[in-house]
Amino acid sequence: MSDTDTRDPTSLRTPIVAVLGHVDHGKTSLLDKVRGSAVIEGEAGAITQHIGATAVPLDIVSSIAGDLVNPEDFDLPGLLFIDTPGHHSFTTLRSRGGALADIAILVVDVNDGFQPQTLEALDILRRSETPFIVAANKIDTVPGWNENEDSPINATYESQSDRVQGRLDEQLYEIIGNLSDEGFSADLYWRVQNFQRNVGVVPVSAMTGEGVPDLLAVMMGLSQRYMKEEMEIDVAGPGVGTVLEVKEEKGFGKTVDIVLYDGTIKADDQIVVGGQNEPIVTDVRALLQPRPLAEIRTESRFEKVDEVGAAAGIKVAAPDLEDAMAGAPVRVVRDRDLEHVVHEVEAELADIAVDTAEQG
Ligand code: GDP
Repeated sequence: MSDTDTRDPTSLRTPIVAVLGHVDHGKTSLLDKVRGSAVIEGEAGAITQHIGATAVPLDIVSSIAGDLVNPEDFDLPGLLFIDTPGHHSFTTLRSRGGALADIAILVVDVNDGFQPQTLEALDILRRSETPFIVAANKIDTVPGWNENEDSPINATYESQSDRVQGRLDEQLYEIIGNLSDEGFSADLYWRVQNFQRNVGVVPVSAMTGEGVPDLLAVMMGLSQRYMKEEMEIDVAGPGVGTVLEVKEEKGFGKTVDIVLYDGTIKADDQIVVGGQNEPIVTDVRALLQPRPLAEIRTESRFEKVDEVGAAAGIKVAAPDLEDAMAGAPVRVVRDRDLEHVVHEVEAELADIAVDTAEQG
């Protein structure tokens, strides 16, 4: 950042990433791979554990992506992947006026190509106007493939025989053709100049990690280039989020796992949560994060934190959460008028009801 740029970099939040695609095309494996790589790279302690989401900070993105990401070119703090893949979670997880995810990865198996849920996912991405890239997965299954674990695509492609290269090219062009049939102009990601107009296709293997450096680099680049303004938030402001899941938790009763996409939530905040009948007004009793793996044996799975800033996944323990709903909004009241916040939550709930009805 230059000296003349006076913006506070902490006011830029992490883009929220969702993974979609047909069953068995490798959504879970891809998330596991990204998580696994992030944990290995972050062994020194840079990884923050989240509830329902995996945060990959910029320095970890950069160490996974190697030469493809120079951290000095970026001021977004990294990427936050929602851990529950699939379009059910994508469509139920909303934020004000749109999808909770800022950006998506559509996973397509290179052997299996476009399938019914691939088309459904495309339809959802189109309607929600969510920018996305396509991960053309399972490239390691091309017969004769020469594995280069965790390699960027260019290097591993160069190490393949002409026959293998030719076969992969065919599969990738088939996917590009399918995207075009669906009205999306697409190309291999290194040929894409403008990711707002064209969908970038990134060949990957969730199994071997090949192409994963490229995938992270493209996500990071796309976010930085086209979404920076949307990522500008008032970090110190009252938190706004979406309920991922409502869960009974030993010692805490009913809790809500939320993804916070704006502001901050504190351990003594009053909050309003969307409920089955009406908004629930309650006080946070505890904010819980997963305890680092090494400490889990001895104590509770969770540790309490005083506050969390967006974007983050966090478990909130509070009284009266029995009627809370997955997909519902959560808002911190803090120094605002309670009635006003309740109305905001009611309005958001009404929007969700309309969307759900439209989707049948
Ligand atoms: P999901 O239903 O989309 O979440 O798919 P999964 O991640 O569960 O993957 C379905 C199957 O494909 C599993 O048996 C995975 O091990 C396998 N798989 C996923 N990605 C790859 C890949 O890149 N290469 C190979 N060879 N197998 C993969």
